[in-house]
Amino acid sequence: MSEVMKQLVVFDFDWSMADQDTDRWIFEVLAPDLRRKMKTLKNEIQWTDLVAQSLREAHSRSITKDQIIHALEIMPFHPAMVRAVTNLKARGKTTFLCLSNANSVFITTILKSKGLQELFEEIVTNPAEWDPSGLLKLRRRVDPDGPQHTCAVGCSPNMCKGEELEAFLLRNGVQYDHIAYIGDGTNDFCPILRLRSQDTVFCRTSRGLQKRIEHEGESQGLKCNIQYWGGAWEIEEKFSKL
Ligand SMILES: [Mg+2]
Ligand SMILES: [Zn+2]
Repeated sequence: MSEVMKQLVVFDFDWSMADQDTDRWIFEVLAPDLRRKMKTLKNEIQWTDLVAQSLREAHSRSITKDQIIHALEIMPFHPAMVRAVTNLKARGKTTFLCLSNANSVFITTILKSKGLQELFEEIVTNPAEWDPSGLLKLRRRVDPDGPQHTCAVGCSPNMCKGEELEAFLLRNGVQYDHIAYIGDGTNDFCPILRLRSQDTVFCRTSRGLQKRIEHEGESQGLKCNIQYWGGAWEIEEKFSKL
């Protein structure tokens, strides 16, 4: 590869940057019965709506903002991931984008607790905010009453990460020599289809993205390089060569 001058690193958040799933973790910590209820209802209610509903139920039983923040701060997050992104950013040629189906409060709370609040150029996710009573109000990024994505790759309702990545590249206006995408889930398949032959997906093993790459990668025309990893220490190793 010729020398890369401008590089974009795109991160999924849950199980990619972090070693857990924020939406599920806070209920596992604070209200396991709500976690069970989410598992029961997840095929009936759209996921972001279900998390919003569960947050309202948690609030109604007096689970506090501080408790939720604490649960986020103790969520598994590998020190090697902090080193990997900090060192790569310090080398100067890399822009970081977060594309996540979690929400703005979960992500920024965790990033702040790791000293990474300045890492991302943009965090594309579902909007959330604390109301004065300590309820975390969450809504879908894509208004369910407005136009929905037209993606045919199998993206679930709300965000299509492929469309979101293309929209970021358009409004950002920079030509990147290399795009790296770090992901683990089935909804990370659509954006990596938009990558070019010089780009790289860093796919976490044993999860939905690996299965989709194996089953659909060739038929859907996946062009980018594929590198697999299991633990963040391997991302640290791989990022040192970017
Ligand atoms: Mg994920
Ligand atoms: Zn899509």
